[in-house]
Amino acid sequence: MQKIPLSKCFVNHEVEEAALRALRSGQYILGKECQAFETELAACTGAKHAILGSSWTMSVYLLHLAQGLKPGDEVIVPSHTAFPTMEPLIHCGAKPVFIDIDDTFCLDVEQIESRITPRTVGIIPVHLYGHPADLDRVLTIAAKHKLWVLEDCAQAQGAKYNGKTVGSMGHFGAFSFFPSKNLTVLGDGGCLVTNDDALAEKVRMLRNHGRRDKYHHEFAGFNIRFNEIQGAIGRVMLKHLDRFNDHRRAVAARYNERLKDIAVTPPEERPWARAVYHMYVVRVQSRDELQKFLKERGIETGIHYPVPNHQQPAVTNKFSDIPRLPKTEQVVKEILSLPIHGEMPLSDADRVCDAIERFYAKESATSGEAGGSKR
Ligand SMILES: *Cc1c(COP(=O)(O)O)cnc(C)c1O
Repeated sequence: MQKIPLSKCFVNHEVEEAALRALRSGQYILGKECQAFETELAACTGAKHAILGSSWTMSVYLLHLAQGLKPGDEVIVPSHTAFPTMEPLIHCGAKPVFIDIDDTFCLDVEQIESRITPRTVGIIPVHLYGHPADLDRVLTIAAKHKLWVLEDCAQAQGAKYNGKTVGSMGHFGAFSFFPSKNLTVLGDGGCLVTNDDALAEKVRMLRNHGRRDKYHHEFAGFNIRFNEIQGAIGRVMLKHLDRFNDHRRAVAARYNERLKDIAVTPPEERPWARAVYHMYVVRVQSRDELQKFLKERGIETGIHYPVPNHQQPAVTNKFSDIPRLPKTEQVVKEILSLPIHGEMPLSDADRVCDAIERFYAKESATSGEAGGSKR
């Protein structure tokens, strides 16, 4: 029986050729490939500047340093996201102010204003699982209270909000190129996009030892640079991004179609959203049993994420007044990420759905209830 992986990286001849081209160029760090990748990333997000870094986490850390984020500052974030979303701000001594999510798994914009205090400086909407957060609402609230907005686009490369590509509608956007993401460099990597000239320059200098030219260091910085081999690979991946995202949407459509008669709740897509399905996340009953059942049939699934961030020890050991977030706390017990990637055969999606169907048929038979199937 063929295994169905949760996700899979694309590697073809073109990718291998790009890596070899960089290898043979004799230039390995922040050279021509990185420059071209930055130009192409800026163009595809519509931002003036794209600045590559060693990961999303480090790129955003540099941004927060450049912004002067400091102890006592508060930043509004959804709890339901990858832990790195709030890691850089914690390093700056700032406080994550957690809010709950809506039915798209993105931050519940209705809750933002009630959490704003005189210390609030910014909001980080996360386009979770590739579904854009409600940016218009976030930006309106941010403008009213003079806050910055950083879009966490780590899972949403190429996603659209009202026809516009995510990343450059907020003041800043940050991308990750980790292997599982929709756009990868087959290693670690990240990118910051912005229209802010001064902050872009500051971040560029911070990533490279605080210098503008080779021998003059204006302040102490870091080495958070990017490599040519990965830049060359990223450029190939970027060319294929739309095709892969279209295919992810086709897989999601197949899942939606097949799952509508089964007792699982498929993900929602809002009218203004063109989601890119980094993950296809359903809400289910008997989640852990279903996951085990699928695993025994060679189907890999995931839980993103089982422990909400406002309950992580890194947070509860450090901050007081941790809020209750009922929706987040409920959802983490029900979510299951089904296999999806840019080249997944639709027949694999069918196999996954067949197995889910069998699981609930069996469950309702053994429990003697009709609760397993909507039919
Ligand atoms: C992967 C991810 C990050 C972190 O990206 P790295 O490049 O691994 O630092 C941040 N936010 C979200 C939502 C992610 O999925």
